[in-house]
Amino acid sequence: MIIAIISDIHGNLEALEKALELIDQVEVDEVLCLGDVVGYGADPNECIDRVRSRCSVVLLGNHDAAAVGLTSVEYFNTHARRAAFWTRDRLTEENTEYIRSLPLEHRTDYFLAVHASPHEMEEWHYVTNQGVADDAFAEFEDPVCFIGHSHVPILFREGGARGERLTEGTITLPEKTRSIVNVGSVGQPRDNDSRLSFGVYDSEKRTVTIRREKYDVAAASEKILRAGLPEMLATRLHLGV
Ligand code: ZN
Repeated sequence: MIIAIISDIHGNLEALEKALELIDQVEVDEVLCLGDVVGYGADPNECIDRVRSRCSVVLLGNHDAAAVGLTSVEYFNTHARRAAFWTRDRLTEENTEYIRSLPLEHRTDYFLAVHASPHEMEEWHYVTNQGVADDAFAEFEDPVCFIGHSHVPILFREGGARGERLTEGTITLPEKTRSIVNVGSVGQPRDNDSRLSFGVYDSEKRTVTIRREKYDVAAASEKILRAGLPEMLATRLHLGV
């Protein structure tokens, strides 16, 4: 199976369209979305429609949950909270219902997928260091768990000392130890690289390819400003933070 794994689109239609265009150029069996389709960006409904029609599985992210009132925005910073309420006011009834129906996890014979961490899933832990990764490893037995949420592509190995940041390119997953792989963010990368990020997993070869590509950041950023969303959400796209 060859599976494209996208995550953290955050209402950025320009980045999503570009990612799907790249995915259409390679032969994949499925497209899987790890959640946070909305929040921050100016095109929440359009992104939901695209993801819904193109992905075989879409998981619930914390920003999706916040936008439909399934999780509290208490721990969100001011910008994220404003964006969540902005999104909530604009989602169509149909898309609100759709988001509310999304699952927290997806399991196949080859892997597990969640938005944040398989440990206390609805607490939305950030798997950004080995300690938090170890908590996550304790919760699953699958050979690999794909995650999003931190917007930084990284690999954690079971029993490892620390995470290994992933740059563009292909890695082969270890055979005897389990892995946690963050495929990065399509719509709001935060590793100082403004290019969109997603992963392609080949279950037979046990490889993960991180794809990075430029998209029309200026257009996505301009829409955020025009929508009256916080200016910082527009500028950060240019910086990849
Ligand atoms: Zn996110």
